[in-house]
Amino acid sequence: MDDLFLKIIAGEIPSKKIYENDSVYAFEDINPKAPVHILVVHKERTESINDTDESKAYIYSDLFLAVRKIAQQLGIDESGYRTIINTGSDGGQEVFHLHVHLLAGKKLGSLV
Ligand code: 5GP
Repeated sequence: MDDLFLKIIAGEIPSKKIYENDSVYAFEDINPKAPVHILVVHKERTESINDTDESKAYIYSDLFLAVRKIAQQLGIDESGYRTIINTGSDGGQEVFHLHVHLLAGKKLGSLV
C-alpha cells in the first residue's frame, strides 16, 4: 500500500508535528498556502469522504475536534481559520488519505 500520510504518521517520512492523539496526527504542509497550513490526518486509512459512511462517522468528529484543539493551541481560534477537505480530481485531491487542511494567519480570500 502506497500511502504517503501513513508513512509520515509512522515516522518513515519526516514531518513537523503540530499535534497528535490516539486517532489523529497533524503536521505542517510541505507547500504552505498560508502562514499557518496544517494537515490534520486520521491514523486510520480512509481514502476520501467517498470512502466513509455512518459506521465511520467518528472519523469526522476525531478530525474536527482535533482542529479545534490545534486552533486553540496555535492561538488562531479567535482570529479565525479555514478548513478544507479536497475530494477527487475536480476537488484537487492529491493524497488519497482523508485529511483536513487548516489554514490561517492572514485574511484568506473568499472562494465561496
Ligand atoms: P490534497 O491536495 O490531497 O488535499 O493535499 C495534499 C497536501 O499534502 C498538499 O497540500 C501537499 O502540499 C501536501 N504534501 C504532499 N507531500 C507532502 C509531504 O511529503 N510532506 C508534507 N508535510 N506535506 C506534503
